[in-house]
Amino acid sequence: MTTFADFGLSAPILKALTAKGYTTPTPIQAQAIPPLMKGHDLLGVAQTGTGKTAAFALPILHALAADKRPAGPKRARVLVLSPTRELARQIADSFRAYGAAQGVSVLTVFGGVKYGAQIKALLGGVDVLVATPGRLIDHMQERHVDLSTVEHFVLDEADQMLDLGFFQPIRKIVAKLPAKRQNLFFSATMPKEIKALAADLLKSPVEVSVTPQATTVDRVDQKVLFVETARKRVLLAELYAEAALSRTIVFTRTKRGADRVAKHLEMCGVSCASIHGDKSQAQREKALAAFKSGKLRALVATDIAARGIDVSDVTHVINFELPNVPESYVHRIGRTARAGAKGLAISLVGDDERNLLRDIQRVTRQTVPSFDRRNDAYLAQAQAAQAHLNFPAPGEDHGSTARGEKPQGRGGQGRGGAGGGGRGQPPRDAGGARPAPIKAGGYNPMSENDASRPAASAADAAKRNRNRRRPSGGQGGGQGAPRASTTAR
Ligand code: AMP
Repeated sequence: MTTFADFGLSAPILKALTAKGYTTPTPIQAQAIPPLMKGHDLLGVAQTGTGKTAAFALPILHALAADKRPAGPKRARVLVLSPTRELARQIADSFRAYGAAQGVSVLTVFGGVKYGAQIKALLGGVDVLVATPGRLIDHMQERHVDLSTVEHFVLDEADQMLDLGFFQPIRKIVAKLPAKRQNLFFSATMPKEIKALAADLLKSPVEVSVTPQATTVDRVDQKVLFVETARKRVLLAELYAEAALSRTIVFTRTKRGADRVAKHLEMCGVSCASIHGDKSQAQREKALAAFKSGKLRALVATDIAARGIDVSDVTHVINFELPNVPESYVHRIGRTARAGAKGLAISLVGDDERNLLRDIQRVTRQTVPSFDRRNDAYLAQAQAAQAHLNFPAPGEDHGSTARGEKPQGRGGQGRGGAGGGGRGQPPRDAGGARPAPIKAGGYNPMSENDASRPAASAADAAKRNRNRRRPSGGQGGGQGAPRASTTAR
């Protein structure tokens, strides 16, 4: 079996890997590190969670250690472009951890924080600069940074860059790089625009692919629940009756949707926070830290905000809405089942999302088992009970695209759906009585057996969810519970 020592990596790097607890290279590391150490360009088709960051960071750090010299004022020896701040921060943390013993200097440059400290740090020059394209362009225009001596250029998560409209900025940045450099290009999926960019940037690259194009992570069990759009929130809260949902990420299509879903879950007693582009860096960091530490059962996120979230033992990914871009589905479910663990992805699919589901199944070449939760009297009652309690009606969180918020994702073509529902009095029966709250029970929303179905009011759900104990060790015990994870951070 290959070991890290077999690659000929320097002693300080091996020491850092031992400290991280890494014993065996992951497949992408085994394939990518040897050619990278020889100076080749690389095209890596790999999802996050495969160990790709170390696959590029280790050989680059080795090269820096073998040829130690200062970068020079305003200069960087390594430039890594990341689509999001979270990912940029994690990449920088990896470089710092693996390069700790060789005293490497690492700087992140991204938006949402003040320029001053970044300008000051750039002035002195750094070994490794990890940046998001927009902020880097700002610094380039103000001549705070000079990219003419970059030796290693890494473009990470290129498909996400495309979704975010970063291709023009990337080309501007690349135009300022020296002709002689090593290029590393990573993407989870390879649509034709990405192939074209890779062809422009890379010179005779070695190609490494750890999963076939756009296939989903094998270890993620996937399920689809068909549900009327207006009832999604009720069903979502009910899913949390399962203690196994101990560390979950819920994806919404819009920022406002994320806030609404988080608010609803909180009202139902599920500890959670939302994370999206309108949150400040400090808020995002606080939410992530609470999620990582196990204080929160749910992190409600938009696709963009969730990029680069590297949290081990995420038990479930829930697609409250399907993404507009099938490739995003692959990214989303890759948040669970990281580094060897098992995970479960549940998608709540409204009638208006069936086309999106078809697109996803075509791209992933998989048919996801589905369960029909429409025409469900139980949900109707629960919804009515919620309205009675004056909670926001489940129908309200939908249709946010119709209210003008741009869905996040390529092209922004919101297929937001009909919306509907709305706050109001619960329906009365023929005698004018309001529906009685229904007793909670051991209902498993994933089960097809409806015999013991409880009808949960939001109050019931809140009580139950609050009382829900996290299984010991922070791991879910039921369906989709993770197995031992090899992640170390
Ligand atoms: P990445 O795909 O780079 O986001 O890495 C996914 C996770 O795997 C991170 O938490 C890494 O710390 C972890 N990891 C990377 N390489 C290894 C390895 N060889 N052994 C165990 N864990 C690893």
